[in-house]
Amino acid sequence: MNKTYDVVITGAGSIGVLAALALARAGLSVLVLDERTAPGQLSNKKAIGGIRATHSDFGKIRVCQRSIEILSHWQEVEGDEIGWMSNGYSYPAYSAADEKKLKDLMKVQQGLGLNIRWVSPQEYDRLVPGINMEDLRGSTYSPEDGSASPLLTLNSFYFKSVAAGAEYRFREKVTGFRQTGGRITAVVTDRGEYPCGQVINAAGNGAREIGRLAGLDVPVEPDNHEGAITEPVKPFFGPMVVDIRPEPGSANYYFYQNHEGQVVFCITPEPPILGVQPESTSTFFPQVARRMVKLYPRLASLRVRRSWRGQYPNTPDGFPIVGRAEEVENYLHAVGMCGQGFMMGAGLSELLARIVLRRETAEDARVLESFRPHRQFSGVEALK
Ligand SMILES: Cc1cc2nc3c(=O)[nH]c(=O)nc-3n(C[C@H](O)[C@H](O)[C@H](O)COP(=O)(O)OP(=O)(O)OC[C@H]3O[C@@H](n4cnc5c(N)ncnc54)[C@H](O)[C@@H]3O)c2cc1C
Repeated sequence: MNKTYDVVITGAGSIGVLAALALARAGLSVLVLDERTAPGQLSNKKAIGGIRATHSDFGKIRVCQRSIEILSHWQEVEGDEIGWMSNGYSYPAYSAADEKKLKDLMKVQQGLGLNIRWVSPQEYDRLVPGINMEDLRGSTYSPEDGSASPLLTLNSFYFKSVAAGAEYRFREKVTGFRQTGGRITAVVTDRGEYPCGQVINAAGNGAREIGRLAGLDVPVEPDNHEGAITEPVKPFFGPMVVDIRPEPGSANYYFYQNHEGQVVFCITPEPPILGVQPESTSTFFPQVARRMVKLYPRLASLRVRRSWRGQYPNTPDGFPIVGRAEEVENYLHAVGMCGQGFMMGAGLSELLARIVLRRETAEDARVLESFRPHRQFSGVEALK
């Protein structure tokens, strides 16, 4: 007779591994299933490590503020180096329209408790020395945002979760569920069957497929994004720089210098490139490099070490899907993390544990409002 787990998590990525630690530390028996050979092998290792509470929505702000609290103290509390830096985020404005848009949003963000302010062009030049000053009107600056290594972070959470009793089975694809009376009784894989009390879908790109296996439609669609990293050099600028100006072929791009001195960067293709297309393209690098060097000429002398392509597990409105399924009472969604799964993982992990234990607070209910699985998906998050 197989052991019955309190919780089975499908997917050992940015969400699944972190949730496993929170659940195991809450005293529950946890099994994490992943079709890959090790934790974090799909989207987690493609993330560039940005962690911001700078969003436009209460839920995302609160979850990421909690992530920042956890990750910024991780090394002193847990003893593991994860490359955390409180380097902040910045959104510079080069037109009156962008300045107004960012300042209007900033008022909403400040009202939701975010530490964010407007800095003058001169002050921004001190944060990002040598930034293109032509037409620069200033920038938002949120100093508590930061960054960490997705690889070091996931490994640390993985080993802590194993120490706390979580079990993992790799190279096992989830292929179905046993259900009785509107409840899942066991998770079925290509190698076995695991009786359980509750299930968390944390399958990232595979969320829709896992949902279908439980008879649910989960509107998560992978959206291709490329990233790249340079050689390490001495620190020469502070915050993540997000240039929100669209250009043909791209909506925006962003870059920062990580804890090892490497500049890491990404661009947002416009229109989106949907599906899973793992190969790097020849268009990404010329497109992003031209934009970056125009904005920040000092980047021109850096040598790029490698580039890669991964996916954002996107939802139609840019908000994640988190909460219990109405149709299957012991099934929880923790999917659709879009471009923010790494930054949301730590804060969400505790929230997921409270949902599993049915110990949600009034603030949790407010956080989960825009993440509801049964919403219309008609809005759009301003900083998605
Ligand atoms: C270029 C790029 C840059 C990014 N930068 C950032 C950033 O700076 N900050 C940030 O917060 N986010 C960033 N992201 C987004 C981030 O990577 C994702 O939001 C996040 O990793 C999603 O986490 P997840 O746990 O939902 O999915 P994953 O981490 O992909 O985990 C899902 C797991 O489920 C497993 N799985 C799927 N289907 C099955 C199945 N049927 N059976 C068994 N296992 C299955 C997969 O193998 C995988 O390991 C970036 C993404 C890209 C591509």
